[in-house]
Amino acid sequence: MNATEWKEKLSAIRGSFSVSIEKKPAENPEALELHYLGRKGELALLLRDLKDIPLEERKPLGALGNAAKQEMEAKLAELKGSAGAAGPVVKSDLDLTLPGWPYPKGSLHPLTHTMNRLAEGFLKLGFTMSDGPLIEDDYHNFEALNFPPFHPARDMQDTFYVDAKDQAGKFMLLRTHTSPVQIRAMEKQEPPIRVFHTGRVFRSEAVDASHSFAFHQIEGLYVDKGVSMADLKWTVDAFMKDLFGSGVKTRFNPSYFPFVEPGAEVDMSCVFCKGGHNSAGRCPVCKGTGWLEVMGAGLVHPNVLKSAKYDPEKWSGFAFGAGIERFAMLLYGISDMRMLYENDLRVLKQVQ
Ligand SMILES: [Zn+2]
Repeated sequence: MNATEWKEKLSAIRGSFSVSIEKKPAENPEALELHYLGRKGELALLLRDLKDIPLEERKPLGALGNAAKQEMEAKLAELKGSAGAAGPVVKSDLDLTLPGWPYPKGSLHPLTHTMNRLAEGFLKLGFTMSDGPLIEDDYHNFEALNFPPFHPARDMQDTFYVDAKDQAGKFMLLRTHTSPVQIRAMEKQEPPIRVFHTGRVFRSEAVDASHSFAFHQIEGLYVDKGVSMADLKWTVDAFMKDLFGSGVKTRFNPSYFPFVEPGAEVDMSCVFCKGGHNSAGRCPVCKGTGWLEVMGAGLVHPNVLKSAKYDPEKWSGFAFGAGIERFAMLLYGISDMRMLYENDLRVLKQVQ
């Protein structure tokens, strides 16, 4: 190879290198480097051929070759830099054949799930869902429900008051029960009315295994012509059987709530034992009685109907209320109410 041929060869290598380096998408810079500048690369081999060229011509050719090498190195460094910054992935550890990461599946909170089940049961019985505010005025939480001022029954519900007053100049409060929704629903529509509501209530109580300062209730109200205790008993029984199965029995014991007359506590047969005792001895859930107290109910007091401008001579109705935590604990075998608020995944995962 003479000097002219050598220069032509160098020029050809530079030409093909610039084509390669300009290519879009860019070629792998490592592969280009190996192809041109590697130990057996095109330029390295050409520089090795210099030894066949007479010494006096060799020197300028060597300078040309080195300049070409430096230029190529600079362009390769540039290409590597841009590929690292934002350019196309030229080399990657991504293995598309690997299995994906497990995607954790969420579940409803046991309380939400219980409320949904309760709602389904009442929608099936022809009730519609109603709503009311968590911060109530004295009128809706107490007075309209036949708790006049200074009535001793107000003391049964330890109330959280809010530092704000209603139009009557009385302190607003966090509702102590879902019963104000009865009044709000009746204010909105003429009888007949058949509504239910699930939601949060607040009482200033110490927290223990069966009490909390914030908990949930379900409320139901039915007002029509000739509604009697028999309608209430049938509805409550059907509802409990829907929730806990057809083997569940219910019974009513006389009780007092200001907004119903007559009033009753509803018991259901213990879902954990038959008659208070099981193979392990006395049932701890019902304490051996075979019955669980689950609900307060009764016929709507005439004074409550009057508050809503319903004529008690013409209309009658029933109402009931129950703690949702109690149902959730019975449905999912949770022994301590606090477990419902601790967000322990082992409890939450029980409900799918
Ligand atoms: Zn029992």
